[in-house]
Amino acid sequence: MTTTLGTASAGPGEIDTGRLEIGETRDGSPFGLPVAVINGERSGKTLYMQAASDGDELNGVGVIQRVVPQLDPAALSGTILIVGIVNYHAFQVAEHRNPIDDTKMNRAYPGDETGTSSERIAAATFEAATRADLVLDLHQGSTSRMIDEVRVRCGKRHRLHDECLELAKAFGCGYVLDQKGPDGQLARAAPDKGVPTVDPELGGCVGWDETSIRKGVDGVFNVLRYYGFLEEDGALERQTRASSFEQYGAPNGGLVDMHKDLGEQVASGETLFEVTTPFGEPKATVTADSDGILWRARRLPQVATGEYVCSVGTDIDSY
Ligand SMILES: [Zn+2]
Repeated sequence: MTTTLGTASAGPGEIDTGRLEIGETRDGSPFGLPVAVINGERSGKTLYMQAASDGDELNGVGVIQRVVPQLDPAALSGTILIVGIVNYHAFQVAEHRNPIDDTKMNRAYPGDETGTSSERIAAATFEAATRADLVLDLHQGSTSRMIDEVRVRCGKRHRLHDECLELAKAFGCGYVLDQKGPDGQLARAAPDKGVPTVDPELGGCVGWDETSIRKGVDGVFNVLRYYGFLEEDGALERQTRASSFEQYGAPNGGLVDMHKDLGEQVASGETLFEVTTPFGEPKATVTADSDGILWRARRLPQVATGEYVCSVGTDIDSY
């Protein structure tokens, strides 16, 4: 059966790329999101993937750029639908939010096809996502420093929670954040339509981080093996799960000296970071309120009073 996404159309054993038209840019020319359809020779499940929902989060684009040339439709069971760049306008200017309406795309799902710029893009990509059996929405911790992890956002009481958790485990980057996300996330809206969805959060950087991209490529292939798109068997590995987050800000201004590395265990009462003057004089020492894992940290050392410094993933277990 031929599968179509935008202008991309592929029969069994074929691959095609094209554009998913959304509307027009400010000069009146039509624009479309780059899309690909990889139609396996044999039938199977459908996987939907998208990247750059936040326009400065490029690692997911790197994952897709590396995964697609490695896919052989003749060796594939099932179909893969891909939107390579979701936040078209933000990507053009390397910004996080869509500059046309100053909106974060991942608060606009399920979208509205007659709505704002972001709502229209959300509606078009949501339509594609909900044709699938599984969804990977490739993100990263923006330009801050973050571990590679996968987020389950539907909430622990959602009927699809177990299936989302399984998808996160199949992706297998080692860490999972299992915490209900804000309204408007694709990983909230698609499970409501019955489609297990997770957000792989592939590190955090400006531009591309090859280590995080490699984990993302491995994660996609892990999913393809586990859910039977590829012949090889996929094994599940134990994941470290955090169920909540504690954020730490600077008690005063100066330069931050982190005492913990990303991924390192933190015990309650241990020093997370110090703030010093430009001359290295100590101004403040901040300790952890709870046991956990250093999950995310700011990139730049300079902080003002109250400014974000780091996050600790807490309520840790493994599954
Ligand atoms: Zn993001």
